[in-house]
Amino acid sequence: MEKLLLIPGPSPVVPRILEVLARPTVSHVGSDMAADMRVMLENLKKIVFTSDGEPFVIAGAGTLAMEVALLNLAARNDRVLVLSQGYFGDRMGQICAGFAIAHDLLRSRWGSVVSPDELDAALTGTRYDIVVCTHVDTATGACAPVREYARRVREQDALFVVDGVCATGGIEERMDDWGIDVVLTAAQKCFGAPPGLAIDVFSPPAMAKRRSLLSVPAYYSDILRWLPVMKDPSRYFSTPSVNEHRSFAEATRMMLEEGMEARFARQTLFGRAIRSAWTALGFGLFTDADCRADTLSVVRYPDGVPDQGFRTSLAENGVVVAGGLGETAGRVFRMGHMGNLTAAQILFAFEAVEKTLSGLGYDFVSGASGRAIRSVLEP
Ligand code: PMP
Repeated sequence: MEKLLLIPGPSPVVPRILEVLARPTVSHVGSDMAADMRVMLENLKKIVFTSDGEPFVIAGAGTLAMEVALLNLAARNDRVLVLSQGYFGDRMGQICAGFAIAHDLLRSRWGSVVSPDELDAALTGTRYDIVVCTHVDTATGACAPVREYARRVREQDALFVVDGVCATGGIEERMDDWGIDVVLTAAQKCFGAPPGLAIDVFSPPAMAKRRSLLSVPAYYSDILRWLPVMKDPSRYFSTPSVNEHRSFAEATRMMLEEGMEARFARQTLFGRAIRSAWTALGFGLFTDADCRADTLSVVRYPDGVPDQGFRTSLAENGVVVAGGLGETAGRVFRMGHMGNLTAAQILFAFEAVEKTLSGLGYDFVSGASGRAIRSVLEP
């Protein structure tokens, strides 16, 4: 039986996008591929609201997009401030360490975010060239106040990088209006495309910074090697993942057909509906109430619901969720709800959840989750 994939990425891929993935492979420098690349790059600019940002889409995953951002911005004597609300912010710190980039890690408690005031205090004490944050940390479900961060970073003349792997295309990120210098992301989450692409959009100041660096400790990840290809996709630098790129182009078409504002609104509504369904079943949420992401939920197990037993039985009933990462392992599970998910899929998922909980002998009001979802989605 095909299972509904509600892990925090990859997200389910709809047939329209899978159909493009399955088309015969074309020449990576031919006209079909070039046409799709052009559409994809133009669409990407609309998705992150930039008119003159430079988009780069290369084969790889989100972690490569993180490296691309850091390696193309950090000069030898630069200092980077990494804001971390969890696992993936810490990874940014590890990438800095791996490339000997001087950095400080400003961490929040898991389930919360670094406050704009804490950012202010850090910026007052030290001169930073680059500030990096995670929009939504996929381990904790905490969504950072990116717009507020941007306002403060702008006052300091530092470059501002946002890891949008679990947010871009599902939660608003306005590069030009807010002053974001790099949005980095990946195909497999809010875009609803298959995994396999690293995406970075550089602002004009970020491009100027790269051009000011004589060399960077990168070859495949050097955006100046990719720039000619992004300007003219009939040129070659390194073979793109043709089918994956074309299916991603289709994913961006679908997003703009829905409309970004409508997509953000749907994402907000789905987040609310799913949180209220868990609450109706007596489950608590791990993430602080003031920073819960709408793209995934991190849910605490009540007494009597075992992690492995719950997830295994739920999968047998047709729905896959993920376990907790790091310090939360065994205590929470994570449910992704991004991309091209539908209300019907959410209702199906909670029917499976209720069936699973009944099987585990957990005491709850039958049908409570469906009613909670409908009261949000069909008020
Ligand atoms: N950043 C965030 C916020 C993520 O959620 C992830 C993946 N879960 C990554 C970075 C790394 O992406 P990938 O697994 O595609 O390398």
